[in-house]
Amino acid sequence: MKYIGAHVSIAGGLNMSVLRAYQLKATAFSFFTKNQRQWKSIPLSDRMIFDFKTACNKFNYQPHQILPHGSYLINLGHPDVDLLKKSRYAFVDEIIRCYDLGLKLINFHPGSHLYKITEDACLERIANSINWSLSKTQDITLVIENTAGQGSNIGYCFEHLASIINRIEDKSRIGVCLDTCHLFSAGYDLRTKDLYNRTFKIFDRIVGFNYLKGVHINDSKSHFNSRIDRHHSLGKGYIGCETFIWMMKDNRFDNIPIILETINSDIWLEEISWLKSKQ
Ligand SMILES: [Zn+2]
Ligand SMILES: [Zn+2]
Repeated sequence: MKYIGAHVSIAGGLNMSVLRAYQLKATAFSFFTKNQRQWKSIPLSDRMIFDFKTACNKFNYQPHQILPHGSYLINLGHPDVDLLKKSRYAFVDEIIRCYDLGLKLINFHPGSHLYKITEDACLERIANSINWSLSKTQDITLVIENTAGQGSNIGYCFEHLASIINRIEDKSRIGVCLDTCHLFSAGYDLRTKDLYNRTFKIFDRIVGFNYLKGVHINDSKSHFNSRIDRHHSLGKGYIGCETFIWMMKDNRFDNIPIILETINSDIWLEEISWLKSKQ
């Protein structure tokens, strides 16, 4: 069973995201639990929680079909101690929001060294941030997303993901989300069946499919190995349609949310229906 959806807007309230997913005939969805470009968040009221849970029940979405995305401001590997602390508190706040909403997962970008510390020092900070956040929260699995490696972003190779996971004390609450656009722009080719097989074989060896908790299914507007993060609609970028068809037929991607973050939300309905038809 594949769960397929898109990253929907929360305009009008968190419960509206559920309705938007339903209107797209999605069987999975993603959303921001707060304004992703602001540090401050309005605490979730009982009413907001109730409305969200009611909508999930009404439209039949279970927690394992929902992959909320963390704020872009959070940098769990921040070189500056005060800003690192700010990020950690904001991250814990988001995890608690997910818990209060009755969810199971939260997806986030690992962090950036901002050219001030080494990659390994940054990876260690990220792992420490995750361990601390896990100790302050319960139930929610923290899902690290691979990145395109733009700028000083960490997480562009499987070794980074593995090195974070290796340092996590409670491995039952850690997972990864693979973004196909980020894979491709970070130098993992997916354009032929052989290269597709090779990329996921390497992923399985270094990280392990047992940690895979979600997929972001995007084509890429930027070239292979460009380290530039530019999403495109399926089949319109440099990855091409076929890769996504292989994924739909690949049972290693069963039972986890597969989320479109493609650039034209007007065609999400079509993209979701196309993906479903290729299973
Ligand atoms: Zn992301
Ligand atoms: Zn993504």
